[in-house]
Amino acid sequence: MSESVAVAGAGITGLSAAYQLRLDGADVIVLEAGDRVGGAVAGSAVGGVFVESGPDGFLAARPEMASLCRELGLGGDLVAPAVSRAFIWASGALRPIPAPSVMGVPLDADSVARSGLVPAAAVKELRAGLDQPGPPLAGDATVGEALRPRLGDEAFERLVDPLIGGINGGSADEMSLAAGAPRLHEALRRGGPLGEALRAAGPPAGAGPVLMGVRGGTTRVTAALAAVLGPSIRTAAPVTAIERTGSGWSLATPDGPVAAGRVILTAPAPVTASLLEPHCPEAAEILGAVEYSDVVLATFTAPTERIAHRLDGSGFLVPRDQGLLMTACSWSSSKWEHYRDDGRAILRVSAGRTDDRRWLELDQPELVDALAGELAATIGLDGYDAVRVTPWPQSLPQYRPGHLDRMDEVDRHLAAAAPGLVATGAAHRGLGLGACVAQGRAAAASLR
Ligand SMILES: Cc1cc2nc3c(=O)[nH]c(=O)nc-3n(C[C@H](O)[C@H](O)[C@H](O)COP(=O)(O)OP(=O)(O)OC[C@H]3O[C@@H](n4cnc5c(N)ncnc54)[C@H](O)[C@@H]3O)c2cc1C
Repeated sequence: MSESVAVAGAGITGLSAAYQLRLDGADVIVLEAGDRVGGAVAGSAVGGVFVESGPDGFLAARPEMASLCRELGLGGDLVAPAVSRAFIWASGALRPIPAPSVMGVPLDADSVARSGLVPAAAVKELRAGLDQPGPPLAGDATVGEALRPRLGDEAFERLVDPLIGGINGGSADEMSLAAGAPRLHEALRRGGPLGEALRAAGPPAGAGPVLMGVRGGTTRVTAALAAVLGPSIRTAAPVTAIERTGSGWSLATPDGPVAAGRVILTAPAPVTASLLEPHCPEAAEILGAVEYSDVVLATFTAPTERIAHRLDGSGFLVPRDQGLLMTACSWSSSKWEHYRDDGRAILRVSAGRTDDRRWLELDQPELVDALAGELAATIGLDGYDAVRVTPWPQSLPQYRPGHLDRMDEVDRHLAAAAPGLVATGAAHRGLGLGACVAQGRAAAASLR
């Protein structure tokens, strides 16, 4: 490919697209609004130790991130979490997440009974729901619509929503099953007893780690991509408008226009929508309607002797009915071998959902106090050394039912109205790192 391609956005999607373009022999330029690369992939020192302030791992079931790491020479630094179990905070105690489970859906009702997470009547309902044959699901639905009738409300709210809703900063009652929980969608499309369908739809439980990480942090991947791309990346270069020219496109930036034969847009959906508006209002309208949630991550470091609870797992999730501000707490110093230190704990605490924006009303000291108080109540934290607060406003795109069809429409409208302009990224077809790498590389390949 000899034509020049401009990529807007140097998050993991844009960097992966540019890397693929470079492999394909294209002349590529990456224009990034911020003063660093990586987008949501970020990190800095807290209490003297480097810790990610965005993603710290990726789903092992998506091979694209691990493949990219191997290509970049980071294969030897791919690591699995050092611990496999995690907890849910419910009724005043940390209770082990029942195993085996798929995206929060337990496969064994007995393990749910042992966990004490739901009362006996709810276990009975769950057992019946897992065993009872159901008709194959046609089309898309919300995760709640599909699973509440099968699992019962209590099991759904204690087990599924904290994971699928919580980690996405939203609600499983509003999220598209097809786009937000593809493995569950696949199982429900098969029909039959849910437990059986879930076992059939994916790797056997216990086949390997669910997550993978990179020793030293996920930022090593974006740094390695940036090193390959070198001066092709321009930071502090927001694309403010795109114009059609005789030979392609001209991208306006504060330092002047950049000409390119083709363009890949990987900025968040509202930005991409405004850039597309003059050329493809239909695609702009769909992308402009994608809702985002505001989340915050507070990273605490504390002497382990100041924590009463043994941090013998990867952390815990908090169902929304528990009345806490936090949605989850990751025990990074137990979860990842590379953060292990007998004397110091690293805790990554998340808060914020589309329907819980309380953290935005607190100033930083108030937020830290509130979260430290919740750490005291849950794991017995009695003092910490350092804390870093990373607000992530408008960071996690929310997929509503029919999302994937709407993204197909975006592609169709763009191909018809503005050939040579491609839009992709976390708001499109998966927000996990593996999905973003796949989308970036696929966007590049689509220009071959
Ligand atoms: C707190 C947090 C924790 C997460 N944890 C995990 C996890 O553990 N595992 C996982 O797999 N995923 C996780 N995710 C999700 C994942 O990190 C993101 O979905 C993914 O990194 C998004 O990548 P992206 O390149 O599509 O978008 P972004 O990272 O948002 O990158 C878009 C880039 O475009 C730039 N930009 C914006 N406007 C313009 C413009 N006009 N011109 C040029 N550039 C522009 C932005 O500055 C940004 O750098 C997490 C996300 C967050 C916020």
